[in-house]
Amino acid sequence: MNWHPEAEKILAKVPPFVRRMARMAVEKEARRKGLTEVDVATVLEVKEKYFSLDKERKAGEPPPLRIVVVRCETVSEVCPGIACFKAFNSRKLQFAGYGPNTEIVGFFTCGGCSGRRVARLVERLKEHGVDVIHLSSCMLTEGDCAPCPFVEQIKKTVEQKGIKVVEGTHH
Ligand code: SF4
Repeated sequence: MNWHPEAEKILAKVPPFVRRMARMAVEKEARRKGLTEVDVATVLEVKEKYFSLDKERKAGEPPPLRIVVVRCETVSEVCPGIACFKAFNSRKLQFAGYGPNTEIVGFFTCGGCSGRRVARLVERLKEHGVDVIHLSSCMLTEGDCAPCPFVEQIKKTVEQKGIKVVEGTHH
């Protein structure tokens, strides 16, 4: 299907790993509307519907507080993240202060020493909105691995991008 050049420009900004899926979703919607060429309006509609982190909210309802957890790449080999999610879902330990209108919108590993992918992924998260980044407890405590020796550096990387850091998730 043909794409209007302006519509292609919007698609080009979609992260590469979901771009093919985004293209298919837009073209499906364009066909449903009976279009022969993908226009800007259709791209924006699909973007809002499927690829925005914004949930549909009732008028006047405040946006959720958005939380992301970053954890140790090495520990991720042995830990699926259960304790982090359990603590969040029950609003306990380092998540105790959050109300019901709070969401975990991201959960990623640091990329290996010395936090190789943190800056890049935080930049990507900012495009979608993130309020607080928690450093997982595995980075801070003795467990499957020693505490992260780069934790101050990682913390500074996040804070320099204007995002609040909380140390810990479930300890
Ligand atoms: S930088 Fe820290 S959190 Fe990341 S793999 Fe190394 S020790 Fe783990």
